Amino acid sequence: MKIKMTTPLVEMDGDEMTRIIWKEIKEQLILPFVDLKTEYYDLGLVKRDATNDQITIDSANATKKYGVAVKCATITPNKQRMSEYNLKQMWKSPNGTIRSILDGTVFRAPILIDSIKPAVRNWKKPITIARHAYGDVYKSVDLKTEEPGVAELVFTGESGRVQKVTVQKMNGAGVLQGAHNLDSSIKSFAHACFKFALDSNQDLWFSTKDTIAKVYDGNFKQIFEDIYNEYYKAEFEKKGLTYFYTLIDDAVARVIRSEGGYIWACKNYDGDVMSDMVSTAFGSLAMMTSVLVSPDGKYEYEAAHGTVTKHYYRWQKGEKTSTNPMATIFAWSGALKKRGELDGLCDLVSFGDKLEQASLQTLNDGIMTKDLTALADCKTTEVTTEEFIAEIRKRLEKLM
Ligand code: NAP
Ligand code: MG
Repeated sequence: MKIKMTTPLVEMDGDEMTRIIWKEIKEQLILPFVDLKTEYYDLGLVKRDATNDQITIDSANATKKYGVAVKCATITPNKQRMSEYNLKQMWKSPNGTIRSILDGTVFRAPILIDSIKPAVRNWKKPITIARHAYGDVYKSVDLKTEEPGVAELVFTGESGRVQKVTVQKMNGAGVLQGAHNLDSSIKSFAHACFKFALDSNQDLWFSTKDTIAKVYDGNFKQIFEDIYNEYYKAEFEKKGLTYFYTLIDDAVARVIRSEGGYIWACKNYDGDVMSDMVSTAFGSLAMMTSVLVSPDGKYEYEAAHGTVTKHYYRWQKGEKTSTNPMATIFAWSGALKKRGELDGLCDLVSFGDKLEQASLQTLNDGIMTKDLTALADCKTTEVTTEEFIAEIRKRLEKLM
């Protein structure tokens, strides 16, 4: 008897090597065990082009409706892709489109195994980075001046009220930048972080540089504090969890000295930089999971890596590849577990756990794809993607 589902998962298919892996995971690891219900959206570049990207918007709206999605990596088109796929337009990044519709925050966490030691010796548990995905330098304007002069920051309110500060009296050539953020976006970010911390039973850290950017970063700090006190403090205390604010430089020092096991919320730029630092120090991009959480509690699970184009070009020539499917498997298991949790389906939750267990067992037995054999400090056997998935299947069958 296969495991039953009641509500469909929103399934977002993707491109290149990850699209091949996607099909393999479904056929080998999920369909034999679960009576899978999905609402299928093909976000492969061909279909996005054919629908003028409407399919991406539809898939995000379906996520709003059903609450849980699982996404395959997708190509973000550039000039070279325009000719490769003969595109009508250089379509925007699907992740960006989905993120703006769900107003979500991205949480990234590494998958840990015993034989791959983090570069930071005392890290024992995953560190999850929550990156604010709106504004600051990513939506800023710059200019360069060649002569002395005065730079001013002017805000004209709809009411007609004007606020003005001098940025700098410049005595020569130089550069200027204007950045902004919105309270509504910072509030959404804060809610998503507090909710995710409660959901995953982890402490939440938040860091900015409010001693220097007193008004700008001070606003972030204050909004987090207010939202914590008003909505989440009681529940954090009940669960024995901590919300902890500190300066970004102090946070960096503490993170390195810590043993992990918490969520680190970062402003947009800090999150960009720190997530690459943390994922590299944990070992491999192929072992990073990612989940987009909206402030009203909708979830979209995916791998943190891209479509692994170089491997795909080799696969197209008929070569076997050793591409690591772990992060994509964990996107599926995460989504199935969340669906099970929301629908009260214990069997589905337990299946997600077993799928993760079987995958980790395979790695712990030294059976690995090429990216990991180089990192592991145990005896390893390098396998192709297909062989790796078949090994997981064997272990999963035993667990079922
Ligand atoms: P990538 O697909 O993440 O791959 C970069 C390199 O990292 C690969 O060439 C491979 O190194 C290694 N790698 C990544 N994932 C791996 C895995 N699962 N197993 C083994 N090795 C892995 O990044 P990219 O080449 O910069 O981007 C390719 C396409 O993906 C682009 O079109 C980009 O737009 C898209 N992308 C999508 C997303 C998303 O949908 N979330 C995110 C990022 C990029 P070796 O070649 O050395 O083996
Ligand atoms: Mg980056």
